[in-house]
Amino acid sequence: MAHTPTHIDFRANVQHVPPQMPPSVQKATAKFLGNRAGLVDLYGPDNWEVLREAGHEIRLHAIHHLDHYLTQLEEQVTQAGGHVHWARDATAARSIVLQIAREHNVKRVVKAKSMASEEINLNHALEEAGIQTLETDLGEYIVQLAGEMPSHIIVPAVHLTKEGIADLFHDKLGGDAPAEPTALTAIARARLREEFLAADMGLSGANFMVAETGTIVLVTNEGNGRMCTTLPPVHVAIAGIDKVVPDMPSLSVLLKLLARSATGQKISTYTSFIHGPRQSTEENGPQEFHLILLDNGRTRILKDEVARETMLCIRCGACLNVCPVYNHVGGHAYGWVYSGPIGSILSPQLLGTAVAADLPFASSLCGACGDVCPVKIPLPKILLHLRQRVVEGDQVEAATASPVIQAGVSAGTLALGTPWLYQLGTLLLPLVQKPLQRGAWLPNLPPPINRWTMVRPFPAFGADFRAWWNKRTGKPLTPKWLRNAALIAITIEVGLAIAWLLTRKRGDKK
Ligand code: SF4
Repeated sequence: MAHTPTHIDFRANVQHVPPQMPPSVQKATAKFLGNRAGLVDLYGPDNWEVLREAGHEIRLHAIHHLDHYLTQLEEQVTQAGGHVHWARDATAARSIVLQIAREHNVKRVVKAKSMASEEINLNHALEEAGIQTLETDLGEYIVQLAGEMPSHIIVPAVHLTKEGIADLFHDKLGGDAPAEPTALTAIARARLREEFLAADMGLSGANFMVAETGTIVLVTNEGNGRMCTTLPPVHVAIAGIDKVVPDMPSLSVLLKLLARSATGQKISTYTSFIHGPRQSTEENGPQEFHLILLDNGRTRILKDEVARETMLCIRCGACLNVCPVYNHVGGHAYGWVYSGPIGSILSPQLLGTAVAADLPFASSLCGACGDVCPVKIPLPKILLHLRQRVVEGDQVEAATASPVIQAGVSAGTLALGTPWLYQLGTLLLPLVQKPLQRGAWLPNLPPPINRWTMVRPFPAFGADFRAWWNKRTGKPLTPKWLRNAALIAITIEVGLAIAWLLTRKRGDKK
């Protein structure tokens, strides 16, 4: 389960890597790398380099002209009957999804794999709104059952053994679950089939968005992506603004690079092209299609001339497969949804270097990630650049701090710096918290300040320190005459402030 972290302690996380994790991870990554190497040989190493160079140029061109291509994409999607929404951050993206769900009285959601939805912690928001949300990619389904985060960009459950998955299925779903991949897949498949038919909304990400045609492209190896995007009456796709590409010829280059680099396939089993909602001449497809374009810190990344090439990433996972650090610690040590070398450069930029300061240092700088990257992102160079930013203490603000949280922090700062306001708060807070209080604790705070109480209760506000001290010692910390003088001063201060406000109002009217 993905929560937006407020601090990632990579060094502490690596102390908790389960012993079975590295062998499971290494077995899978070795297989992907072996398949990839075979296909690169077949393609011809020189031709492969030409293809990588073309991929690099296409992605660089797209992110340098994001304004143009995103506007074109919006026009095309709208023309095809879809709705385009712009989400500045995670809070805005979640609100848009919830609003669409409310408008359609959605009770059940099926989800295809989407890193953007993990990034914005969407499942939790939906569940909190009483909407049953089910991951349908097999790996995502497994980690959802386990209550964990994905540990690899394309193979979310790579850290688990088949025996572990069999035990999980037995515990969570009941019945026999033999530790055999085909049998386990059949169990999941039987469960999921009914859910596709019953869902009111399908959610997906987008591997690419083609500006020229307004096409959303999904690359999967299971049929679940198609089911999620065609069976429910409403389809919502969430994608980072960086996923836009100019046209179909550009897409064809990137598709070749993606499948070969990710799993060592010439092409993925399913490549779906989604072009708005169902048209009057079509039998299948959703009646409504929504595309949410997520920023969440991406435009800020683009401002950094060195680090902006992070935005070229096509999420193939090859840098994870080749990384000696990732292969020894697995994905969870990186503390968030993005792991491996791409996580080490993307997370600090999306969350803020203060939150993920450890990650640029989670690398041996061997350079293998840069060599394998299909779009030639200079990962080692960006890692070094971010290390420098961390050491110099860059003050980049986390993109995930919502306006409400920011307003709360400002109000807290003001109250702590203004004695009369603080005193007023200590009088009012015990009254305000009463409906939520259970004994000495606040077990459930309302959204959006509920992130703490999702995990543990919050202590109820008690008496203020002076009152507590007075009661305990019987000797007032502040002499009575001083308290009375302070109260008189506060009353005069409040009175003067009200008088000033009233005078100003009258002056405005004149
Ligand atoms: S950084 Fe390169 S290798 Fe790593 S996931 Fe992104 S595209 Fe793939």
